[in-house]
Amino acid sequence: MGSAAPPVAAQAAPAPITLVVSNARVFDGRRPELTAPTSIWISDDRIVAIGADAPAGAVTPTARTLDAGGRVVIPGLIDVHMHPLVVAGFDDIKSMDANYVMARATASARATLLRGFTTVRDLGGPSFGLKQAIDEGVIEGPRIFPSGAIVSQTAGHGDFRSRAAGAADGGRPDVLEQRGYTARVDGVDQVLAAVREQLRLGATQIKLAAGGGISTPLNPLDSVQLLDEEMRAAVRAAADYGTYVTVHAYTPQSLQRAIEAGVRSVEHAHLVDEPTMKLIAERGVFVSTQAYAFSGVFSRPAAPGSPPPTAAQLFVRAKAERVQAGLDRMMLLAKKYRVKVAFGTDLFGTERVVTLQPREFGARLKWFTSAEILSQATGVNGELLELSGTRSGYPGPLGILAPGAMADLLVVEGNPARMFRCSKSRPETCW
Ligand SMILES: [Zn+2]
Repeated sequence: MGSAAPPVAAQAAPAPITLVVSNARVFDGRRPELTAPTSIWISDDRIVAIGADAPAGAVTPTARTLDAGGRVVIPGLIDVHMHPLVVAGFDDIKSMDANYVMARATASARATLLRGFTTVRDLGGPSFGLKQAIDEGVIEGPRIFPSGAIVSQTAGHGDFRSRAAGAADGGRPDVLEQRGYTARVDGVDQVLAAVREQLRLGATQIKLAAGGGISTPLNPLDSVQLLDEEMRAAVRAAADYGTYVTVHAYTPQSLQRAIEAGVRSVEHAHLVDEPTMKLIAERGVFVSTQAYAFSGVFSRPAAPGSPPPTAAQLFVRAKAERVQAGLDRMMLLAKKYRVKVAFGTDLFGTERVVTLQPREFGARLKWFTSAEILSQATGVNGELLELSGTRSGYPGPLGILAPGAMADLLVVEGNPARMFRCSKSRPETCW
């Protein structure tokens, strides 16, 4: 080789700056402190640079300027456990017209975006069409990382069939299975077929039910679900497609089996024990958990005069109470072993419930500072979403404000730490 030609990238014309957000104090999604007032240089939907001066070689004649007036700018918020298509209770959804469900999901997606959540991970439900319409700019809503159907064994957390189903209908898929909310599988072949079907439709990650759940009426909480070989098959099929598996699991047994099979994130984990949390830390698994939904707010005693609960309702309530009882210990263990705690709300059903989404911030103050919680909802969640690799379809990282990242940003009026409440005795929580 003779004299080296300059690298191709050096010859490329610098991207024109289209927006400059000036006089901004930046929370970058990772560090707890804010920058001094500075400028964010943006080209279309990506951040080019953060600093007082224009990046070298930048072309700026057509740039718009937005003076943030010394306000705080944070990355767009991320919720990694939502169900955008679960717009009502599961039994109600079974009897709703699918177009009506989508109409409600469309309105809800816009409301989610206006709460500041610019990205969400869907952990069960047919949101592929909703995502496409948002990505195309047809409607307004957050970026969606869809899982498609929850892959579950018969008698698993994704098996929402009634007691009457089965013998009467020959085990046919119910409405939730037909519409892509859940996929019922038994045996490695069926697991592979269901996982690959979600990937074909555009799933950015796979969600398995690895143990009992609260909302499934016939499902005991302590049941361990999917055999090792079924779970490993799902992990391999996802990895071959460049992505990963996350599991619904509360108990040590179901968590351990899933982690040994190679899953990269776990949902809930409220009944975890110390050895299992240690394992989670060693393997670098994300704990995508919820404080608000499991703080007891949804299990208040019935109003006087209401009819006595049925046996099925008592069963579900007892499961919810058991999970709630584990919340504090789980969070303390997560802190002790410094695991990556992601921010997800799992608030689904009517819009009145989904609107409570920001309460997750305040519900975490018992264990974390405001800056830590804000990092969980931005930088940590962005790191989790990176596990989808190129399946994400977005060209830059999310949840951080840095060169190359997607320019999802919020200009916040007032002090964002006070969105939750900062502690005067711990000044590091206040900005
Ligand atoms: Zn969920």
